[in-house]
Amino acid sequence: MAVSLLRRDKRSAAASLKAECSRPDGRGVQLLNDLLDSVLSPERALAEAEVIEWCKCLIAGGESFDDFCKMVCAYDNATLCGLVWTANFVAYRCRTCGISPCMSLCAECFNAGEHTGHDFNMFRSQAGGACDCGDSSVMRDSGFCKRHRSTASLNIPSVPNELMMMSEHILPRVILRLVQHLRDGYSEPVSDPATERDLQKTLQQMDPLISLLEDLTKMGGATRSILTRVLANHQIYKDLCSGDLCTGEKTYAKKNYEKYLAALKGSGLVTSKERSVTSVLDQMAGASNVTILGATAGTGQMDSSDEEEQDGNQRVGKRKRVELCNSTKDPSIMDILKHKCFLEEILFWTVKYEFPQKMVTFLLNMLPDQDYKIAFTKTFVQHYAFIMKTLIKSHESDTMSNRIVHISVQLFSNEELARQVTEECQLLEIMVTVLLYMMESCLIKSELQDEENNFHVVVNCGEPLLKNNTYWPLVSDFINILSHQSVAKRFLEDQGLLQMWMNFVSFFQGMNLNKRELNEHVEFESQTYYAAFAAELEACAQPMWGLLTHCKIRETQGYTRTVVRYCLDALQDWFDAINFVDEPAPNQVTFHLPLHRYYAMFLSKAIRCQQLDLDSLLPDQEMLMKMMVHPLQIQASLSEIHSNMWVRNGLQIKGQAMTYVQSHFCNSMIDPDIFLLQVCASRLDPDYFVSSVFERFKVVDLLTMASQHQNAALDTEHERSMLEGALTFLVILLSLRIHLGMTDDEILRAEMVAQLCMSDRTHSTLLDLIPENPNPKSGIIPGSYYFENMLSAVADFKAPVFEPGGSMQQGMYTPKADVWNQEFDPIMVILRTVYRRDVQSAMDRYMGFLKQTGKFCGNPWPPYRERAPLNPSYKGLMRILHCKTLHIVLFTLLYKMSMDHQNMSEHILCMVLYLIELGLDNLPEETVEEEEMFGEERCSDSWFHGTNIATNLNHVINYVRVRVPETAPEVTREPPASTSSDTSSFVQSSNTAQVFSLVAERRRKFQEIINRNSDNAIQNADVRPKTSKWTAPSSTPQLTTAILEVRESMLSLLIKLHYKLSGKQNSYYPFWLEDSESTSRLDPMQQSHGDGTTAVERILIKTAARSRQNKCSIEEICRKVAPPVPPKKNSSADKKALDKEERRQKARERQQKLLAEFASRQKSFMETAMDLESPDSDVAMDIGSSEQQDSETVYDCVICGQSGPSTEERPTGLVVLLQASSVLGHRRRSTEPKKLPTSDEEQIYPEDTCGTAHDVRITDLQQYFKDSSCLQSVSIGWEGGVYVQTCGHTLHIDCHKSYMESLRNDQVLQSFSVDKGEFTCPLCRQFANSVLPCYPEKSEEKSIWSPYISKTLQALIEEVEEQQEQLGMFPVSISSVTNLSKEMESVMKDIKNTTQKKYIDYGKTPGSPDNDFLFMYSVARLNLELELVHRGGNLCLGGASATTKRSCLNQLLHVLAMHMRLFRIDSAYNPWTRLTRLTQVIDSGICDDEKPEVPLLYRDISSLLLILVLTMPQELHKEHFTCIVKVLYNLLYTQAIATLSVRFSEEERTAWKNSGKLKIMCNSDKSWEVLLSHIIGELSKGKLYCASDTDQVSMLSTSVWSPQSIEYSIQQFCLPFLRTTSLLQHHLFGDDLPNCQRTEEEFGMLASYLGLLLSSLQSSDEANSSSCLEWPVAALDIISQWCSEVMTSAESHSEQVMNLLVQDPQWSLPCLLQLPENYNTIFQYYHRKACVHCSKVPKDPALCLVCGTFVCLKGQCCKQQSYCECVLHSQNCGAGTGIFLLINASVIIVIRGHRFCLWGSVYLDTHGEEDRDLRRGKPLYLCSERYKVLEQQWVTHTFDHINKRWGAHYNGL
Ligand SMILES: [Zn+2]
Ligand SMILES: [Zn+2]
Ligand SMILES: [Zn+2]
Ligand SMILES: [Zn+2]
Ligand SMILES: [Zn+2]
Ligand SMILES: [Zn+2]
Ligand SMILES: [Zn+2]
Ligand SMILES: [Zn+2]
Repeated sequence: MAVSLLRRDKRSAAASLKAECSRPDGRGVQLLNDLLDSVLSPERALAEAEVIEWCKCLIAGGESFDDFCKMVCAYDNATLCGLVWTANFVAYRCRTCGISPCMSLCAECFNAGEHTGHDFNMFRSQAGGACDCGDSSVMRDSGFCKRHRSTASLNIPSVPNELMMMSEHILPRVILRLVQHLRDGYSEPVSDPATERDLQKTLQQMDPLISLLEDLTKMGGATRSILTRVLANHQIYKDLCSGDLCTGEKTYAKKNYEKYLAALKGSGLVTSKERSVTSVLDQMAGASNVTILGATAGTGQMDSSDEEEQDGNQRVGKRKRVELCNSTKDPSIMDILKHKCFLEEILFWTVKYEFPQKMVTFLLNMLPDQDYKIAFTKTFVQHYAFIMKTLIKSHESDTMSNRIVHISVQLFSNEELARQVTEECQLLEIMVTVLLYMMESCLIKSELQDEENNFHVVVNCGEPLLKNNTYWPLVSDFINILSHQSVAKRFLEDQGLLQMWMNFVSFFQGMNLNKRELNEHVEFESQTYYAAFAAELEACAQPMWGLLTHCKIRETQGYTRTVVRYCLDALQDWFDAINFVDEPAPNQVTFHLPLHRYYAMFLSKAIRCQQLDLDSLLPDQEMLMKMMVHPLQIQASLSEIHSNMWVRNGLQIKGQAMTYVQSHFCNSMIDPDIFLLQVCASRLDPDYFVSSVFERFKVVDLLTMASQHQNAALDTEHERSMLEGALTFLVILLSLRIHLGMTDDEILRAEMVAQLCMSDRTHSTLLDLIPENPNPKSGIIPGSYYFENMLSAVADFKAPVFEPGGSMQQGMYTPKADVWNQEFDPIMVILRTVYRRDVQSAMDRYMGFLKQTGKFCGNPWPPYRERAPLNPSYKGLMRILHCKTLHIVLFTLLYKMSMDHQNMSEHILCMVLYLIELGLDNLPEETVEEEEMFGEERCSDSWFHGTNIATNLNHVINYVRVRVPETAPEVTREPPASTSSDTSSFVQSSNTAQVFSLVAERRRKFQEIINRNSDNAIQNADVRPKTSKWTAPSSTPQLTTAILEVRESMLSLLIKLHYKLSGKQNSYYPFWLEDSESTSRLDPMQQSHGDGTTAVERILIKTAARSRQNKCSIEEICRKVAPPVPPKKNSSADKKALDKEERRQKARERQQKLLAEFASRQKSFMETAMDLESPDSDVAMDIGSSEQQDSETVYDCVICGQSGPSTEERPTGLVVLLQASSVLGHRRRSTEPKKLPTSDEEQIYPEDTCGTAHDVRITDLQQYFKDSSCLQSVSIGWEGGVYVQTCGHTLHIDCHKSYMESLRNDQVLQSFSVDKGEFTCPLCRQFANSVLPCYPEKSEEKSIWSPYISKTLQALIEEVEEQQEQLGMFPVSISSVTNLSKEMESVMKDIKNTTQKKYIDYGKTPGSPDNDFLFMYSVARLNLELELVHRGGNLCLGGASATTKRSCLNQLLHVLAMHMRLFRIDSAYNPWTRLTRLTQVIDSGICDDEKPEVPLLYRDISSLLLILVLTMPQELHKEHFTCIVKVLYNLLYTQAIATLSVRFSEEERTAWKNSGKLKIMCNSDKSWEVLLSHIIGELSKGKLYCASDTDQVSMLSTSVWSPQSIEYSIQQFCLPFLRTTSLLQHHLFGDDLPNCQRTEEEFGMLASYLGLLLSSLQSSDEANSSSCLEWPVAALDIISQWCSEVMTSAESHSEQVMNLLVQDPQWSLPCLLQLPENYNTIFQYYHRKACVHCSKVPKDPALCLVCGTFVCLKGQCCKQQSYCECVLHSQNCGAGTGIFLLINASVIIVIRGHRFCLWGSVYLDTHGEEDRDLRRGKPLYLCSERYKVLEQQWVTHTFDHINKRWGAHYNGL
């Protein structure tokens, strides 16, 4: 029965089966199954078209499948869009509407939703995604599009059962077949390409089936729910897959099933049956494990395949492989899989086949079904471990990662679902276990601290897993689920999980250890550091921030307590494992301390938000001391790195130092470190802390008051900068409040101010530079209103401007004046600078501000800022400022500074003063007066007694005992016994400070603290000293003790320093002594800007204000006459340093000035080169066209510097750039610019461009007329003509040749190619490629202007003719070779080679001289017309006065003329005769087979003019020129009238014909009416006008012609000729162009300029076109003659007569296509548009902005003979110049010949910034100024000069 069905027509079979099935007897179902057995038999290949056909027909149950689709779709009630996309799809994200940050929308839903004014952006999907429209768990309902609003689906009826009945029966079998196929097709890849191909084949074969399933999912809810039932049902799976169904094929089913089992096993997975065996193994393994770090080591349950892989490549870390304790975790997570439904097995196979795209899409398309989503999520979680294992092994981990995330993001972004699987499927346990498992595969032994006794293991950052970031899908999933409160809570409550997590984090603690190279430079600069930073940020910090967002309120105190506890445990374990006691190992640093940072950040949160007591979370003192060491080591190393002490480790170490503070890392790295150090400082003994700092920075030895010292730890050259580093660190530590009390607002403001002070910033840079504070996952969202408000509060916007020279700027933000005045904080700047020069830049800008506002004119010091109040929990921090050790250091440094000791600097002094001032501003609470009680007497034995700085400032130190080298001056000095009365007591050191050793101090304190913790004291003391390499300075044998008489207090030292800084004795005088209203003058604001003296004064005022005692002391010190200041001549080191700094500053200024000068010189070259309208300054340099009064022009050679005339023997030439141009060819008739099409309806047709029109004309002419004649009747070069421009500089041609030779030998990389003759002008560096010889001027020949009245027109005509005859007989011979003529020939060759052959050969015989002739005068025409365009298209309104900068037209005309005179024009065809004489009808003399000559009325007058002028002998007389122009004007006028007559309607023609006849009597030669009437009469003789009276022509004239409009139209017709002719005259004879202000005057002005009108005769605006006529013979006769030429040939081409007769020489200025305002309009239409050539959607679509052609940039698809489409188009459309908009980047590239450059973008965002590659995806708007500049550069051919960064494109664009 089934067999018979198979033979039937599928649709009818399906229909009858459906009927059978709907009966209750079940026979139909049986029948259907039989049929399916056969159709879906495993023996039939899935790829067979029949199989799918059958399935489709059966599912449709007799309908066509398409109809069925439509019917089902009609019932779709899905409220979710769920559109699934793959990588590179363009989607949208709206932050205003999104709940989850992962939310995304398809373009359709986005555009149909309401998002105006929202914070949205467009983005290119990287991993793929799905549309969330309609999913209210991910986005707000208000953002849904109309279609997916939940209300929209209410009215849709549910689908009738009958429609879906067949699907219900068939789909289980289809799915079964799919699974069978997957099982059969699989073979374990043995990393051999053959099997990989097999897998690909298997996938290909099932493609049609998957497509079918995909189609079904797209039909909507109904089919999806059936599929869900099939996929998730256990029973169906059991029935079909256990092999019970088909008895006949039992063997197949069994084999098939076994393949599945084999695959499971092959993956290292077991089914639950085997589970019992495994657990026994587990126990055995567990017993033998050794415990390290709370984890177990050993081989354990590593599955066999992994084991083998590992054995293959033995690694260091292998023996130390660590596994987590299996006691806490279910081993089933990693190794057991049991499939209970189709969905599970299908996912298994999807993983096995490494996520084929089609399968992924199918699985994701099902997601809108809620039941499926739950089932699938659970299945995904079930396979999670397996997925990640597969990922690690995958060779294509990048693709696979993307596919995994594509799926998981859809599942885990939904909080409810994530919570459900966390609870039901142990999602968190699985994730953490898998993370541990993953990292375990690449652990190595840590070498930190004690290499031998180190039991800690860390990840090896060189492993592919880390280097390639393979772990990111897992980490990103983890971060994603932790963002859900309910899930995070679960995590924080589970102590087991936390413990595991801390284990995980500790793998990163101390990774990527750096050891300072002391001897040789590292051979290989390892770049692993980036992997390390990325790993810490992504795997440790991000989850931390995720957890922290859920610890924001008091109620969550418990969580923080737990985390802190486990963190401390882990830290303790770590210290134990690395065998750490108290000293860090020297010359080692790791930037990775995630455990420290976890601890720090949870601590910060606890104090800030949860009101926890700090002390309750702190460990004991010993632990605090340990915790302080490594972060402090990093700070010291930063300073070492910047002091160049790590140079031998290569550049990468600087990279690490910079990354550590960089904006994306700082809030997870340096900020927590500083905070932790602040916490330690606030609780540890301040003396201990301070001495530790100086010891870590290795500057202890430097801190002696002796003039000389030895330093065991540091080279002298590094001392100063390390001391600066140490002091700066202390200042940062004490003034930074980021975690100590600043609010989020204050932090953001401070960050913003710091960045803006360094440099003006664009909006996007600023966004990027501001750390999302303090928590990257919450807080400020980029672009939020919050951010914007803050920005507008602190910064002013500077709109993008253009700099001359074309460099484009972006919109910038610059600090407001108030910010400089009150908020600029150098400390914050130092903290956030990646490059040290940024600090200098901020200071320079600050100085600029002070100068500009007149606040301070000197060299300012960094301003001191009051700090935000300290959170009371950290008050202890201020004890640092009030401890003896710090005060001794400060005193010592002040003393050293005042004594001009070596290696002191202004910066050091600045930091010292900063610390003192901080101390004064943060006095301890016990009153100052109290301390004063102790007074002088109690300071009998040593340094200071109290700790209050206010008191200690005043404390006088009399003697200090120092250890000095024996050579030091102190040693020889006698003890000051004679000056002291109590000598004996002095020796007893009653008033002498003890030798102070910081190291000893720290040791002592450490011991004290340790002893307090009696438990640990003994064991710690045992091991302590052995690793120490530090030796106390006193142990150095060469040192001897000396006693120094000091007798200073810090106050006296400060006052001395004031003298020093001001350079004046007694410069300081306490103001209160002169002014009784003392303190009222104390305005700290006014005091904040200034130099060192200001800082000292401020401190003294503060000191005086704090205590009466101090005030008195200051007075006393100041009263003392001339305190001992070291005399100036000492020329001390300090002064030297200050001087040096000053000198350096001056040098810097000088240099800047020089640079600026140089730049402005360059710029002025550029400006003139750009030919912009700035008529000044250039006249002097204008050579070509200038009226040189001197007899001979003198040229300067820019190479040899000599000056002289250009001669035949040693010609001089102009530096020129020759380039092919099609700019004029793209002119259009309409003055409205063409719009760029942005829909299918809009189109651009090229027909109305100048280039096309001329092409058509020449083809038409060639059809009917003699070729050589045709080639003299038009101009070419509208497309591909050669434009010649010069920078105006000249050189000897022989000098140029040697210059080129030197360039050729120069191996320096040049952006131009010397082989192509390219070079840059030696003077102005402008790009050039040829040299145009200057024609030696023979002044005597230059005719004196003779008024043309002197000779009659007739006489002149004859003279011209004579000269032309002459020429015919005696062509100038090139055989008389001179150097000049050789060069002229060679430049002509260059000109020809500049353009392509096809732009030269227009004649029928390629290469004929006629072609060359045409080409040459066309070059002249082109250059004239381009100049006209550059002048604005006309010669009035400034067009005439605009100086033609650096024109080389005169020289060019000479070269062209010389070559053109080589051609012989047959006198019989010389147009001159026909122009000036009445001749016999000549057509009879011509053979019939030859085509006639082109009638004069068809000829192009400008071309005729150039031919006549350029073929005349050299040094054309002006009277002859004028004569030619006059003769041609007659013809031009006739053409104008003829053209006009064609435009008339028949009636008008008759009317004008008749009215003109009446006026014949008087002055008829100059009456347009007579002439018009005559022409109409003549032309009517033929059938000319009949053809014209078709619609299209008469349509042109809707209005009636009046005499005025006729005159106007004649003038318009003639003007183009008059303009080019005037320019020609200007260049040939050097007379100034006339000036006129009104467009109406132009005709008259030009006519008189050209001598057509007597200028005195009439006021120019009344100029009448006909009054310019001057006929050599009777007008009517010669007109008749011209008309007859047309008539004779008209028979052969009556159709074209009209077209040829109607010339329209008017073209509007060339312009680029008009672009839409909003970039999205372009993007939406073009980014998915298919190319017309390859009909594919290009990967990199580009758009020609000249003609609108759409091309495949870089595409192989459209490549022709190794030319990619873009390059090809640039040749065809722009003769080598192309301007393309890259659709996907919003950037414009310019192609010029073999080079290209990225021009920039003409679309900017609201902040005036480009968005290259659309990375930010914010709306972009057209910046018309930029677009104007682009157009300007195109029209003026200045791309080469203005844009700097060119590269060769090798035809690959
Ligand atoms: Zn959508
Ligand atoms: Zn939608
Ligand atoms: Zn929105
Ligand atoms: Zn020279
Ligand atoms: Zn130059
Ligand atoms: Zn184009
Ligand atoms: Zn293409
Ligand atoms: Zn293509």
